[in-house]
Amino acid sequence: MTTPILDRFGRKHSYLRISLTDKCNLRCTYCMPQENMLFMPNKHLMQADEIVELARIFVGLGVDKIRLTGGEPLVRQDFSSIAERLGALDSALTLTTNAIYVDQYLPTLKKAGIKSLNVSLDSLHASRFKAITRRDQLQKTLDHIDLLLEEGFVVKINMVVMKGINDMEVNEFVGMSLLNERLHVRFIEFMPFNGNEWDMSKIVSYNELLAGISDQYRFSRLPGDRHDTAHQFQVEGGKGSFGIIGTVTHPFCSGCNRIRLTADGKLKNCLFDTSEVDLLTALRNGSDVQGLIHDHFDKKHFAHGGHGQFTAENAKETYEANRTMIAIGG
Ligand code: SAM
Ligand code: SF4
Repeated sequence: MTTPILDRFGRKHSYLRISLTDKCNLRCTYCMPQENMLFMPNKHLMQADEIVELARIFVGLGVDKIRLTGGEPLVRQDFSSIAERLGALDSALTLTTNAIYVDQYLPTLKKAGIKSLNVSLDSLHASRFKAITRRDQLQKTLDHIDLLLEEGFVVKINMVVMKGINDMEVNEFVGMSLLNERLHVRFIEFMPFNGNEWDMSKIVSYNELLAGISDQYRFSRLPGDRHDTAHQFQVEGGKGSFGIIGTVTHPFCSGCNRIRLTADGKLKNCLFDTSEVDLLTALRNGSDVQGLIHDHFDKKHFAHGGHGQFTAENAKETYEANRTMIAIGG
């Protein structure tokens, strides 16, 4: 019989995010340090068979949704075979990507049963896009978002909003959400991780975002699920929706159902918890992987990995001890 992955607060964890790699074809400032980034050697990464085997164990424990992420999942050479094998499991499959290589994988995405993708896009202006991602790829990203929509996928655009850097574009992004019922935009509060020069003053808060959007649009709140990270809204007469992921100022920890597996096979019970359990080595040694998963979630803190509230004072010290976002898997 399946023993679900429960924590001390009765939260059932059924949504697994698997990082396929810590490598990427972009260099987003909020995600990775500009210098001294040490990438994982390939032999430390989970191999395709190991990813599928670990995913199978999680599905046996009640996981019903798997998201592939990274780094950039599409830079992994064996992405197609991994996605197709995971797509055959009894669980929904989805993907977070920067979309730069997505044109090469349309048949794979369909074969794997992927219906919805999250696509990162932080600016609609070439020079700003380049400043944030340190690469000149705006047009390709926009073309590939159009391609995904034409091919029938649901696209959720993730924009990390940073004060003075791209916050002046928020209403332009809301404008995009008006055009297509399969296009949704989500604004994410800038979160602190190792090496990303986070500062409380760079956050545009949930309340500030709503106030700025209401200057230009009339909108109403859409019903949601208790596991949702985003509060969703729809502009009057708009086709798609916009959402706000207020991790810092509007935490959603009480409904958390997320499990994270890093590309080197470490289990994390929260994005902000520095403790990890090495499932890959356990799998390779034939140890009790299920037992390790249950033990780790038994120790899960209620909110923010036990670090309490994000504040300007505690953040640097506390969050610099975590991995970089690119090495966790967003
Ligand atoms: N390369 C893929 C992409 O960019 O969509 C997947 C990996 S990326 C780490 C996953 C998500 O994390 C992206 O939507 C990105 O915007 C978000 N992210 C990364 N660093 C973040 C930060 N410091 N604060 C908020 N969101 C962040
Ligand atoms: Fe790469 Fe995604 Fe991180 Fe940008 S956010 S550097 S695209 S992994």
